[in-house]
Amino acid sequence: MAHNDPKEIVVISGKGGTGKTSITAALASFFPNKILADCDVDAADLHLLLNISATEKHDYYGGHVAEIDPDKCNSCGLCESLCRFDAIDVKEGKYAVQEMSCEGCKVCVDACPEKAIAWHPALNGAWMKSETKHGPLFHARLIPGSENSGKLVTFVREKAREKAIENKAPYILIDGPPGIGCPVIAAVTGAHRLLMVTEPTPSGLHDLERVLQLAAYFKVPSYILLNKADINKDYKEKTEKCAAQYGAKFIGSLPYSTLFTEAQLKGVSILDAFPDSEIAKELKAIAENLITHLQEEKQC
Ligand code: SF4
Ligand code: SF4
Repeated sequence: MAHNDPKEIVVISGKGGTGKTSITAALASFFPNKILADCDVDAADLHLLLNISATEKHDYYGGHVAEIDPDKCNSCGLCESLCRFDAIDVKEGKYAVQEMSCEGCKVCVDACPEKAIAWHPALNGAWMKSETKHGPLFHARLIPGSENSGKLVTFVREKAREKAIENKAPYILIDGPPGIGCPVIAAVTGAHRLLMVTEPTPSGLHDLERVLQLAAYFKVPSYILLNKADINKDYKEKTEKCAAQYGAKFIGSLPYSTLFTEAQLKGVSILDAFPDSEIAKELKAIAENLITHLQEEKQC
């Protein structure tokens, strides 16, 4: 790794509702000189808590889509028979590609004897760079129904990384996608560290174990932050045991707090809404603990 290589810290949760995005927004206050990224491209919402300004918006073309030229088509039907995604329809002898079903695999393009099928870049969404008081934020929005969410996650990470190198920022703090599917794999692969936000419930523990397995597969070390730690003592202990079993470091816990929701309703992070609250102090201690761990690793 190059000396100035920024470290990507990806905050993930395995399931929704753990407070992942609220905690990412709060941590953004404490990390020194960092770039922020929201890789939940299906439902980006970190920007809603960071009071963004000066947004640059760009189209994102992630895949391709086929289009038949009716003037060149001889209606042989070969493309329809080869398309595995049933994306080609024929109406009154005229063949046409249904854009929403086309996966851009190019099989029909290469097979057409009349060279009647074009292969265009497909507009899949938009990516944005916004200014926040905690640093630049890269985020994106996938068009509903569009494929390529994993590619867009990778694209957002690359943009954040380019900016971090330009700014000589040592850290990139990323709000990752929920679950363990393609977007999460795209967010986790090659990351420096994962911060897993979980809660002491049966579903929280189940989903934590799944993301720990994913992290182990991709060999990315993990930290665990237990939110709402006081709602179930048994599951708090089970979560700590699970973290230890996978070699993940337990970085701290937070009590259940309605202040997260109140801050969301104000459209700011909990640190900005309630800077003198107990929970703000606990978040500060967790952030300092996390940063200390990261700095100590740096010196190893
Ligand atoms: S393969 Fe080409 S010529 Fe044949 S139906 Fe499809 S578009 Fe038309
Ligand atoms: S590019 Fe692939 S998915 Fe799209 S219409 Fe052609 S064969 Fe079907």
